[in-house]
Formats: sequence, structure tokens, C-alpha cells
Amino acid sequence: MVNLVATRDFGLKTTHLVPEINMENADVAIVGAGPAGLACAASIRALGLRVTVLEKSDAVGAVWRRHYDRLHLHTDKGNSGLPGLPMPHSYPRYPSRAQVVQYLESYAKQFNLEPVFGANVRSVRREGSNWQIEAGEHSLVAPAVVVATGWADFPYEPTWPGQDSYQGSIIHSSAYRNPAPYAGKRVLVVGFGNSGGEIALDLAEKGIDVSLSVRGPVQILPRELLGLPILSWAIAQRHLPARLSDFINAPAIRLAVGSLRKLGLQRASIGPRRMVEQTGRVPLLDVGTLAKIRDGSIKVNAGIERFEPGGVHFSDGKQGNFDAVILATGFRPDARKLLPESTGVYDDTGKPFVTGGPTSEPGLFFCGFITSPNGQFREIGIEAKRIAAHALRHVRG
Ligand SMILES: Cc1cc2nc3c(=O)[nH]c(=O)nc-3n(C[C@H](O)[C@H](O)[C@H](O)COP(=O)(O)OP(=O)(O)OC[C@H]3O[C@@H](n4cnc5c(N)ncnc54)[C@H](O)[C@@H]3O)c2cc1C
Repeated sequence: MVNLVATRDFGLKTTHLVPEINMENADVAIVGAGPAGLACAASIRALGLRVTVLEKSDAVGAVWRRHYDRLHLHTDKGNSGLPGLPMPHSYPRYPSRAQVVQYLESYAKQFNLEPVFGANVRSVRREGSNWQIEAGEHSLVAPAVVVATGWADFPYEPTWPGQDSYQGSIIHSSAYRNPAPYAGKRVLVVGFGNSGGEIALDLAEKGIDVSLSVRGPVQILPRELLGLPILSWAIAQRHLPARLSDFINAPAIRLAVGSLRKLGLQRASIGPRRMVEQTGRVPLLDVGTLAKIRDGSIKVNAGIERFEPGGVHFSDGKQGNFDAVILATGFRPDARKLLPESTGVYDDTGKPFVTGGPTSEPGLFFCGFITSPNGQFREIGIEAKRIAAHALRHVRG
């Protein structure tokens, strides 16, 4: 079978003949069929290489299928499409979770990606000049491999003294779906990133007694500035030094967001762009949380010092009783288990040193492992095209 693909949007020197997917003869094995795996597969196949995508679940975009119900893209659709296929005109500016899933399905269909489902890759090891990808009955050997397994399997769940004695429930934000189980309860959301801010808002909109625990200074951006998505401003300024870009934007952001101090929050001393670049933390794009803090529907507390049976003690000496705690404390990807022998490609926590380009292991690539001030989907698309070019060079010598 030979397929024709749309070539003009890839921004790569592409071939019109795309080889069929073949488990035996893959040039590149891709682990994961989320946005990164699909973008890499389409970009690599567009260069004429044979690709096999191995996905442990039974559908593309598995992680987006299980995100919380209320979720919409925080980044606008114009800046969130993957290589070769923009998000549909009919979608709203900030597509819903279901629309993102639908888009990923169309993406796989458009480029005939046909991942192998139920292929849970357990290890990736060098075998001479090839890579041995071990996924039970779906194991294969290929000269190049892209690890596009995302962050979702690595929720970061800190612990505090006294936590074992706590009688309420504790879940990570990745397990939160909707407010229904929390009706009539007092809920503490720990962390004020995009998930924490939106989950607190989701609960407050249903009239649930919700508090945030915010341990340190924050950066908060309006989702739009002067009618344009904030991401468009960031992208327009991406070639400016981070410090200058933060300096230019500070007055407009302060005007749009208002005083944080009055809300019990502290603005970070470094601007949003430097915060992402220096700490990897993404600023909160406000979708309505601040208004709920202002009207008192969401209460703000300091960081947690310790748990007790009925609630928590905060670091400012205050105490609160809570029936449930939701840890919106982020994710920390860890490649150690998947790549036990390639220890030079990740740090001592398992975080890859390089994403979207050649690693110190020839033919091994990671996609989607950095946080970007310009949107993760957009960054994934850029990385995918870069990986495709390097994979072609590697495979074809
Ligand atoms: C709540 C939330 C909201 C976000 N909103 C935005 C947004 O608005 N805009 C934006 O740009 N970014 C956003 N992001 C960040 C990022 O764009 C998404 O997380 C995106 O899904 C990352 O794509 P990915 O393919 O790298 O990872 P994932 O979507 O996590 O996909 C990884 C895939 O790999 C599979 N997999 C994992 N391990 C294995 C294995 N061992 N073998 C086989 N398959 C495996 C998984 O099943 C999954 O299908 C958001 C993230 C979160 C958590």
C-alpha cells in the first residue's frame, strides 16, 4: 500500500511516497501515540522512512481521553495544531478535551499512522547499531527510536509529616474527573499551576467549599491580552531575550491581572518567560480562577506544613479542616525504567537531557519532554520535525 500525504505544511523536504507500516522493517520505532508520538510519526513518514508506533493503550490520545471533564486547551487552536494538519476552523479558539481527542484521531487517520495498540513497551536497549524495543509479543528492532511516552505516568506526589494519620481522601490531579464526588465536602487543592487553578475553579463553580494551598510566589497571565491569545504574544517575542520580553510585558500583565497581594498571593520576582526557562514551571493562564478568589469562593492558604487527622496545618501557622485533598503538584518524567542501559541520556532523576534532537546515544530521540513558554503542542510539532530530519540522516547515513 502506498499513500499520498499532504506535504506543504511539514516545512520539510518531503517525499510523496509514504511506505506502509510494517512491524518487521521499521526504520524508526515510536513509543507512544499521544500528540508527540503522532507528530513524530507523521513527520518521519513524510520523509519516506518506515515507522512503527507502539501504544500501550487501545487508542490514540489515551491521556487526553482521561483528563478532567472541564479541560479545554489553555493554548489557542491556531498555535496548537501538529505538523501538517491545523486544528479545524469549526473548533472554538480553545478546543475542549473531546475536540482535542477528535483532532488526534483525525490526525492519525489523515496520515495513515495506524499505531500498534496494546503494545506496552517495557524496555528500549541498544543491540549493535540497532535498538531492541521490548513490548511482549510486539517486540521489534529498528535503527532509530523515539520515546514519546509523555509525563502522565509520572505524577509527582509529595508527602508531609502526619499524612498517614489523615482521615480524608488524597488524590493526584491526574485522577480528578469532575466535582460530583466532592459535593458537600471541604476540599483543599494543593498547587496553583494550570491544573490546580482550573480544578479549584471547577469545584467553586459547583458551590463546593474549596481552598488552594500555594506554597510560594506565582506568575499569572491572562489567557488573552488585547483580544489576542497570550501565546501569540509570547511567540511574537520569542527571539527577544527573556529578561527584556518579561520587562516589556510586565505593565500590561499587571494591569490585566490586578494585584495579587490583595488575593493573598505573591508575584514571583522573575517574569513568566524566565520562570519557564529557569525553573521549568509554566505560569498559570487564568481561565476564571482569580475572579473566584476575588469573590471569596476560593480561599487561598500558604503551603502545607503537616497533616493531622482532620486536615492540615499551613506554614503560616493557620489550620484548616478538609475532607479531601487534591494534589495538583505536577509530573516528573522518568526514563530510567524504559532505558535502563542508556544512563548517559538522562539526569539522576530520569529526566532526559535533550528533547527534540539527537541524544548522546545515536538513533535515540525523546519528544515532548520540555516545558515551553510557547505552548507544549506547538513545541512538540517543532521537535517532531527536527527529530524527523535527524532520524533520516541517522537511518540513511
Ligand atoms: C491537564 C493538562 C492540560 C494541558 N493543556 C495543554 C494546553 O492547553 N496546551 C499545550 O500545548 N499543552 C498542554 N498540556 C501539555 C501537553 O501538551 C500534553 O500533556 C500532551 O498530551 C503531551 O503529549 P505527549 O504525546 O508528549 O504525551 P501524552 O499525551 O501523555 O501521550 C503519551 C502516550 O504514550 C503512551 N505510553 C506511555 N508509556 C508507554 C509505553 N511504555 N509503551 C507504549 N506506550 C506508552 C501513553 O499511553 C500515551 O498515549 C497539558 C497537559 C496537561 C496534563
